[in-house]
Amino acid sequence: MSNKSILIVGAGFSGAIIGRQLAEQGHKVRIIERRAHIAGNCFDERDGATDVMVHVYGPHIFHTDNQRVWEYVNRYGHMMPYVNRVKATVNGQVFSLPINLHTINQFFKTTCSPDEARRLIEEKGDKSISDPQTFEEQALKFIGRELYEAFFKGYTIKQWGMQPSELPASILKRLPVRFNYDDNYFNHKYQGMPRDGYTKMVEQILAHENISVELNTEFDRQEAGDYDHVFYSGPLDAFYGYRHGRLGYRTLDFEKFIYDGDYQGCAVMNYGSVDVPYTRITEHKYFSPWEKHEGSVCYKEYSRACGEDDIPYYPIRQVGEMALLEKYLSLAEQESAVTFVGRLGTYRYLDMDVTIDEALKTADAYLASLADDSKMPVFVVNAR
Ligand SMILES: Cc1cc2nc3c(=O)[nH]c(=O)nc-3n(C[C@H](O)[C@H](O)[C@H](O)COP(=O)(O)OP(=O)(O)OC[C@H]3O[C@@H](n4cnc5c(N)ncnc54)[C@H](O)[C@@H]3O)c2cc1C
Repeated sequence: MSNKSILIVGAGFSGAIIGRQLAEQGHKVRIIERRAHIAGNCFDERDGATDVMVHVYGPHIFHTDNQRVWEYVNRYGHMMPYVNRVKATVNGQVFSLPINLHTINQFFKTTCSPDEARRLIEEKGDKSISDPQTFEEQALKFIGRELYEAFFKGYTIKQWGMQPSELPASILKRLPVRFNYDDNYFNHKYQGMPRDGYTKMVEQILAHENISVELNTEFDRQEAGDYDHVFYSGPLDAFYGYRHGRLGYRTLDFEKFIYDGDYQGCAVMNYGSVDVPYTRITEHKYFSPWEKHEGSVCYKEYSRACGEDDIPYYPIRQVGEMALLEKYLSLAEQESAVTFVGRLGTYRYLDMDVTIDEALKTADAYLASLADDSKMPVFVVNAR
């Protein structure tokens, strides 16, 4: 098998991992990144004033059930134990999330056992809704109006800029309540934070003699023909010059502030009320609980519609966007030497573990296509 010349657009987890896997098989990889740094949205750096590790594009907690992915991140980083415990300020009180027995007992001023709480929540559920169509109906059926309004309604309106009655029921697939005191936000087997940060981890992934990385470098489609294959982790619609219009995203604004001491005593505090303009406050030193810092760096997080010059964060994927996506997928499916990858290339929200898994599978697929001389797919995953 001859060595191939590969162009990768984007130095986030998707681009870096595909690059590394191919470089290790002897292929020459050039990675271009429009930003001034690697690691994409997982970029973190130490704050100059406090030395706290700051997750610049919003907090990132690593969690997975995937053994291959867990071994991969442990090969390139030193993972420290971390359990995400989220709090919520609602109606002048602080509660524990996700809604658990503590939340229920505090909220309803009860001392319910698990079985009693189960019965209570069942009673609260709206039995007149037999076939819920919207997020709101689903929530009302599952948990009733009081918990829905306190913990879901306002937060959803702020996060998505839409009424829960306009969102599909599928968003809330399962009963979002635990009938015990488990307040671990995630259910995955593995959870942790990289001791030296995600940027360092990506730096280690990129450290290979067959990889060159160029920052502050914009992709130019004319260049694609100079390579045997292109892996593109930028926005799918941008690849086609937005010719059918822009895929809708939500963007985030982070209002950073420094506090001399301990601001809120936890990593994440949600704000459920629409009267508070931000969705949450994150205190970054709590993401590295093994470190000690006097000062603190916090982010107030605001969500809004993504404009042309904003960073696209969360794909909206409602009916209108899906119709537009279909047009771009049809265009993309005609490509012969390009594979679209990652959260922007496939227009999906992806947690890091899914991103890493898909990047590894994409590299596997490319190597297999070389081995049996078959065509490399334009999408290794289903983006629909
Ligand atoms: C607010 C927020 C919080 C999150 N929190 C978590 C979390 O707690 N846990 C978790 O598991 N996941 C989390 N994620 C998901 C995580 O950010 C993604 O899984 C990950 O960033 C995806 O990596 P990627 O390489 O596909 O994309 P990105 O990280 O976006 O990397 C793509 C790169 O391509 C570059 N690029 C784009 N277009 C071009 C171009 N034309 N030319 C050159 N370069 C280009 C971009 O600058 C970018 O650096 C969160 C996401 C968000 C938005």
